Amino acid sequence: MFASHRQDRTFLPPEEFCPLCPTRHPDAPTEIPFPAFDVVVFENLFPSLVREPPDPDVADSELYPVAPSSGVNEVIVYSDDHDLGMAQMDTPRIARLVEVWANRYAELGARDDVAYVFVFENRGEAVGVTLHHPHGQIYAYPDIPPRPQRELETALVHLQRHGTCVFCDVVARERADGVRVVAENDSFLAFVPFAARYPYEIHVMSHRHAASLLDLTDPERLALADLLRMVMAGYDRLFGFPMPYVMSMHQAPTDDGQHQAVSHLHLEFTPPHRTETKLKYLAGSELGAGAFINDTAPEDTAARLRAAVLDGSLVDRLDETGAGEGPSRP
Ligand SMILES: [Zn+2]
Ligand SMILES: [Zn+2]
Ligand SMILES: [Zn+2]
Repeated sequence: MFASHRQDRTFLPPEEFCPLCPTRHPDAPTEIPFPAFDVVVFENLFPSLVREPPDPDVADSELYPVAPSSGVNEVIVYSDDHDLGMAQMDTPRIARLVEVWANRYAELGARDDVAYVFVFENRGEAVGVTLHHPHGQIYAYPDIPPRPQRELETALVHLQRHGTCVFCDVVARERADGVRVVAENDSFLAFVPFAARYPYEIHVMSHRHAASLLDLTDPERLALADLLRMVMAGYDRLFGFPMPYVMSMHQAPTDDGQHQAVSHLHLEFTPPHRTETKLKYLAGSELGAGAFINDTAPEDTAARLRAAVLDGSLVDRLDETGAGEGPSRP
C-alpha cells in the first residue's frame, strides 16, 4: 500500500498537545470533542486505506497491477487517561475494549468491500509509535492480507490431511506439554509458540474453536480480558519497563465465509526486545531469505515470562540460578 501523504503526520507531540486526549478547553480542541470518555473509535486522519479512494497515480498493467486503496482505517483510543494502557487497566476495562473490538469487527466486516478486519496495536517507540497516548488501530482490507492468508492456507492443508483445526491441535499440544505456557484460564491460553520468531513472542488462543470474537460467550470475553491483563503485567515486569510490542489479532476473514472451519481466534504479541537492552533487528536471513533466527529457546523464555506473570521477584531468582540460559535447541 502506498500512502505518501502520511509523511506529514503528527510525530511524538508533547503531552500538552496530545491529539488523543479529551478536549478539556474549547480553545484547545483535540481529535476527540468530549471532556471525558471511556473508549473512542474514529477514522484515522492519515489513513492508508480510504472509503472512496482516488484513482491510482500510475497506470495498471499486467506486469505491475494496481488497484485503488479502498478500505477503512480506524483508531481506538483505550481511555481518556494519557497514561492508562492495557497494562494498567483492570479486567472489566479491558473487557470493554474486547466489546469494542467485537463491535468494529462486526460492523466493518459486514461491508461488501471489506474482506478482512485486522485489529492491532503498536506499543512503544521501538516499534515506531508516533503518539504515546494508549491506542490501537483497525485496518479493514479489501482482500485477505498475506500473513493471515498464509495461515489460512496452511490450516486448510492440515484440515485436509488430518480432519482437524491446526490451532485446536496446537492448543491441546501446548496444554499437554506445559513448557511453553505463560498463563492460562478456563477459556484462553497464552504461550510462546514452538516456532517463535521473537524471543518473547506470545500467542493468546481460545481453548475452544471460535472463528472470531463474535463466537465468544460473555464469560469467554471476560476470560480473554483477564488473560490479556496477566500477559500485559508479565511483559511489563519482565524488564521493569513498559514492554514495546506489536499486537496482531487474527480472526476469520469477512468475505465469503469459506474460511470459518480453519479460522481460530488468536492474538500474536511480537516484542522486539531480545534482552533488556538489545533489540532484535530483521536482517539478512529474515529480510533477504525469509528465515527467522531466534537466539533463545521458547521453553526458556516461556519460563521467564511465566515467572514474570506470577511474581516479578521470580525473574531475579531465575537470573541468579542461570535458568533461562539452558542449552540452545537445534
Ligand atoms: Zn493523551
Ligand atoms: Zn480451532
Ligand atoms: Zn496468526
